[in-house]
Amino acid sequence: MNNRLSMGMVLLVLTQLISIRVLSVQALGVAQADNSVPTFDWAIVGAGPAGIVTVGLLLDLGVAPQSIIWFDDKFNVGRLGEFYSTVPANASTALFIDFIEQCKTFNAFPSAARDALYSYDRDREYPLQTIIAPLQDITRYMCSQVVAIQKSICALDFNAQGWNIHAGGKKICSNTRRSCHWCPSSFI
Ligand SMILES: Cc1cc2nc3c(=O)[nH]c(=O)nc-3n(C[C@H](O)[C@H](O)[C@H](O)COP(=O)(O)OP(=O)(O)OC[C@H]3O[C@@H](n4cnc5c(N)ncnc54)[C@H](O)[C@@H]3O)c2cc1C
Repeated sequence: MNNRLSMGMVLLVLTQLISIRVLSVQALGVAQADNSVPTFDWAIVGAGPAGIVTVGLLLDLGVAPQSIIWFDDKFNVGRLGEFYSTVPANASTALFIDFIEQCKTFNAFPSAARDALYSYDRDREYPLQTIIAPLQDITRYMCSQVVAIQKSICALDFNAQGWNIHAGGKKICSNTRRSCHWCPSSFI
């Protein structure tokens, strides 16, 4: 991958607008539209870089955290976190800092890993762990704000009321009123 692709991923996710707090959806005080299946305004599937940015920007825009439901089967920064921590990044520290600074929510809590970015040479490329660690902190923070469910989504369907989301053979969320963001991978 080259810098263009890396920049492309950052721009793509910016424009698309981890203990994880796994909540019992029935325990939440959200509207019940379909027999005890809760509804949310926003549903985001995937907590790789694309899903992280989507949730971060929704929070920056003032969307109520409890109106956002966020799914991932691992919540570990997607493929970056799972496979590529020792791979040398093809983006410089400066680009990673720029990426983090674009989103207020990414900076709304203390993070030693995020602060450590500022101690590196801005013009150098380090192993991807330098950006994975802050993104793990960001994921953990945002999971504490929104409704985070650690499950693999097996089906989505759409009707006039919105999106219905299924996991483990059961409908777990219905009538997502505004939008369902499918971020299970933006790069192959
Ligand atoms: C060797 C290598 C080096 C790379 N180096 C760089 C680099 O230096 N800089 C860079 O910018 N990019 C790099 N990349 C690219 C980077 O890994 C991808 O661009 C990035 O991971 C894509 O993010 P994503 O959120 O779209 O998808 P992913 O990272 O694939 O995340 C998708 C998430 O969705 C979850 N998911 C999938 N299906 C479901 C489901 N049904 N239900 C619930 N959750 C689900 C997955 O568990 C995962 O957490 C590299 C890639 C490789 C292969």
